[in-house]
This record gives sequence, structure tokens and C-alpha cells, in this order.
Amino acid sequence: MTGTSTFLRWIDVCTLASGAPLRIAVHGIDGSDGPALGVSALIHGDEIVGAEVVRQVREAVDPARLRGRLRLVPVANPLAFQTLTRGTPLAVEIGNLNRVFPADPALDLPARLAHALQTQFLDEITHLVDLHAGGTFPIVDYSISLRDLDMALAFGQRVIRQVSGYAGTMGARAASQGKPSLVAEIGGGYALDGAYIEMGVRGVLNVMRHLGMIDGRPERPPRQVVLTEVTTLRPGHGGLLYSELGADGMAREVPGGTLLGRVVSPYTFETLQELRAPYARSVVLLLRSGVTAVNPGDYAYMLGNLEGARTITNH
Ligand SMILES: [Zn+2]
Repeated sequence: MTGTSTFLRWIDVCTLASGAPLRIAVHGIDGSDGPALGVSALIHGDEIVGAEVVRQVREAVDPARLRGRLRLVPVANPLAFQTLTRGTPLAVEIGNLNRVFPADPALDLPARLAHALQTQFLDEITHLVDLHAGGTFPIVDYSISLRDLDMALAFGQRVIRQVSGYAGTMGARAASQGKPSLVAEIGGGYALDGAYIEMGVRGVLNVMRHLGMIDGRPERPPRQVVLTEVTTLRPGHGGLLYSELGADGMAREVPGGTLLGRVVSPYTFETLQELRAPYARSVVLLLRSGVTAVNPGDYAYMLGNLEGARTITNH
């Protein structure tokens, strides 16, 4: 490869009924020979932190010192970002863009978006970091390793969830093509938290160090836990969720049966449901703090089982 370059390319998906084109921005940085790392954000339209992580990574990387190529997609799902929703507006079948890979481009809009991402992003990379967040109310802090645990450990979050598949997701699709792939779940809410932005930027740069794309060694926390068993607590009733946890409860161990929160009716003020830690040794991966509105089936908490989990000590 000769020379280095940076560019912005648009993937044309289709024309909307409004007449506006639907397209996806891809920022590219080409250095010397090396891996092709893809970093994507906002495949779920209410997970905004990743877009800022991508912007800062784009700023931080010097093309002259880069070994390999970067392909950065700050907004994988522009329609869902416009409406700040997890699901894709105008979906006829499945609204969750991150459940329709590999997609048939003859189907509905999410499938067309997925096909565009497949052919003009995934097919051009050798490694994938897909950035996610907690949405409106939950905050999250863990990585999902879909292929290549070492890359997930290098990203540097304290808790890693190792899974063999995750049907229909872009990460699992990349993994099924033999590409090391991880999903980083970072922060949440619509007012960006500087610490979580920093975690995301450091994570992507750590992966680049791990792959030899930039100089240096990944900065990892003193201790990392690799989980294989995780439970999501989704309330069966809607109302207000009064949480017992603060934001500092993240990655903390709680004993089984610990009260995490209560769903309360804002009409009668009665408690409709109590949510408790499921494992004798539970670790918190996703939480809400304060008082938040909740619908039946929403994400309220996510806990991992520390029994049988692997702890890795870094020096
Ligand atoms: Zn997501």
C-alpha cells in the first residue's frame, strides 16, 4: 500500500418516501499494511455515547503512524437515531436492526440497512468493535466477546461476557465470518458521561495496540472477570422503578437475594414487583439508578454469575 489517507464515504441505502436519501457515513483512515478494524456505533438509535467515542478515535489517530486501516461508522442506524429509539422506524418485520444479520436486501428497511452494512462495511474489515450503551435509563459497563477473548480483554472493561453466538447481530455475523469481534456496552442516557466516553476511546485504542496498529500496550484494569452466565431482569409490570443502586454499583458484587429495585404503581403507590439479585454471588453489568419510568419487558438490571467465572489478574 502506498501513502496514507483519510476520507468520508457515504453508503447509499435508498430514497425515503419523504424524498430524502437514507445513507450511512463511513470515515476511513488508511495507514500502512495491517489489519482493517471496523468500529461502529448507534445500530440502536438511543445509544448515543458510541458516536462521540468514534469521533474522538477519528481525532486521536494519526494516519502517518497507523499500521492498517480503520473504518468508522458513527451512526449505523440514522433513522433510529433521529427518533432516539432502539428499534428502526418504518420496519415492516423486525425493528431491531441488530437482529436481522445476515440480511436479505429484498426485505424491509432494517434488512436493507443490514445488507448495506454487510456489503460496504463488514466485508471490508478483518476485526470489529461494535459500540453499544444502555439507552434512555439503564447504564451498562461490560464487553461481549463473540470471537477472540484476548481482543475483548485488551479493550479493557472490568467484566467480559463470553458468548458463542447472538443470533442476528452484526457482531455475531462478523464472528461467523471468522473475524475477531466484540460488543462494548458503555454508559447510557442522553447526557454523555465523560468517564464512559473516555472508557470507549481508551478501549478502541487498546484494541488497536493489541492488534499492532498503533504503538504501546493495552491499558487494562488490575482485575478482569470473564462470565459465561448472565441474567437480565425485565419487570413484568410497568410503572416507576425505584432503584436501590447508584451508578457506583456498577461491576460490584452483590449477594443473592439483595433487593435491587421495586416497580411501584404511580396510580395506587403500591409495589407491583421486587427485583432481586439472582445468583449467590452476583455482579452488576446493567443498572438503573434513582427513579425511572419502566415498561413491562424493559431492561432493568443485568447480573452475571461469579460462581464459575474466570478472574484474570493483570500486572
Ligand atoms: Zn445496543
